[in-house]
Amino acid sequence: MVCSSAQVLKERPRVSPIPGRYCRFCGPLIGLRPPRGPSPPTKTWILKPPTPLGGLPSAARKKTHPNTMDVNLGQNGIAILGGGVAGLAVLAALHREGIRAEIFDRAPSPDPRGMGFILMPNGVAAVRDLFPALDWPRISRQLDTAHLASSDGTIIQRQRLSHTLCVSRTGLINGMTRALPAGRVHYNAMVVSAGMEGDHLHGVQLADGTEVRAGAFLGCDGVGSRARRWLHPRRELNPVRYFELLSLMPAPLISARLGNTFRKFYSPGGKLAVGIVPFGDSVVWFVQMDRTLKDMLHWRPAEVGAHFRELLANWPDPVPELLATTDFSGSHVWPVSDLDPLPNYHRGNLLLLGDAAHPMLSFTSQGAGSALEDAVLLAPLLRGITTPDGFAGAFAEFDRLRRPQCSAWVAAGQDLYQAFCEPRTSANRVPLVN
Ligand SMILES: Cc1cc2nc3c(=O)[nH]c(=O)nc-3n(C[C@H](O)[C@H](O)[C@H](O)COP(=O)(O)OP(=O)(O)OC[C@H]3O[C@@H](n4cnc5c(N)ncnc54)[C@H](O)[C@@H]3O)c2cc1C
Repeated sequence: MVCSSAQVLKERPRVSPIPGRYCRFCGPLIGLRPPRGPSPPTKTWILKPPTPLGGLPSAARKKTHPNTMDVNLGQNGIAILGGGVAGLAVLAALHREGIRAEIFDRAPSPDPRGMGFILMPNGVAAVRDLFPALDWPRISRQLDTAHLASSDGTIIQRQRLSHTLCVSRTGLINGMTRALPAGRVHYNAMVVSAGMEGDHLHGVQLADGTEVRAGAFLGCDGVGSRARRWLHPRRELNPVRYFELLSLMPAPLISARLGNTFRKFYSPGGKLAVGIVPFGDSVVWFVQMDRTLKDMLHWRPAEVGAHFRELLANWPDPVPELLATTDFSGSHVWPVSDLDPLPNYHRGNLLLLGDAAHPMLSFTSQGAGSALEDAVLLAPLLRGITTPDGFAGAFAEFDRLRRPQCSAWVAAGQDLYQAFCEPRTSANRVPLVN
């Protein structure tokens, strides 16, 4: 049976339901029966790279976690590691294709943190496709203009925006979760290690000792992805270049004044900007500052806020008003980092999606949108696949189709970062949105 024996890791599984047994994750427990014929090679657990091979043998794990029951999604099933925007979107897309898939996320519940993001037309189209019944008026606000100005009042640019929304992250995550079939998202399920056999990932292990087996695995575990470290142990995120102080605050009057306009102000000297996005009766607003100007990365949000209150006191309306009324203890300091494009997003039956595959700087406004688009593109490629080799082939095709576009966004983010750092001239491009 999946969850009880050290033998599990040494035997090729045959899947069958075990009457009367239930797993806390998947309901009726799926069993593994010993194979007939010769044993396949022993599998190895990868714990935390850079210690690549070796690790916690199953027997020891069971001693430490005697009450865990394992999960087997079968050869056709897919385990999704991480249930943020990418994970939830791909679960919806796979469900639509009739493919069994389940999410394992380390958070105790849908993570309520996060303020919001701008979804460009590609992201909006992807959400509308996957979640047609979302309550858009509740979770988003249409943006039709971007108004960009220097902090000395000079207008830099007015730009029409079409099909662009400011979306509450919590609203989107909750709406997506509600639209999914019940029981497919497992929380308190932190993935800690992977069992590899050559290029084949046969299972992952959760922090509580649970083993999860499936025909394929999707690494949707965000910027700091563990799954990415299994594929590319030597690839590190680029050093943090700038940080953002993000705040969401009730401000009905300011929101009404902004209408459907996104405003952004830039320091003439570069490296510092403030963006303000209306959202319902609130505004999401942020300060972006290059670390070389002042490194406040490890300051508390309230300390960063107090510093900006002085520094930006003479910036145009409504910046001083926002600074005066924001309670910065509820703000978030976000160290922004990216990763140079990876040489591939997959190995065998493991594929990376969303920020795990292509973290990009926030200037692109493609973090969430690109994750949503990944899901829309991937699911039809997996239609009818029943073998690990089939998954590997489809993942290679996804990689071929998707990587050039995402690599271009990563590069665009880096160009926009350079422009952000330069003194403003009428000629240079401005990083538009966050
Ligand atoms: C709490 C939170 C708040 C955010 N707020 C904003 C915001 O206000 N504005 C903005 O522009 N972007 C925000 N982001 C980032 C934005 O959501 C992503 O850039 C984008 O949507 C891509 O989504 P993703 O699913 O690839 O990554 P994410 O949305 O980061 O999701 C990754 C998921 O993987 C889970 N996870 C990570 N490691 C493990 C593990 N070992 N085992 C199991 N699960 C794991 C995390 O709990 C998370 O749910 C936020 C992300 C998070 C997690």
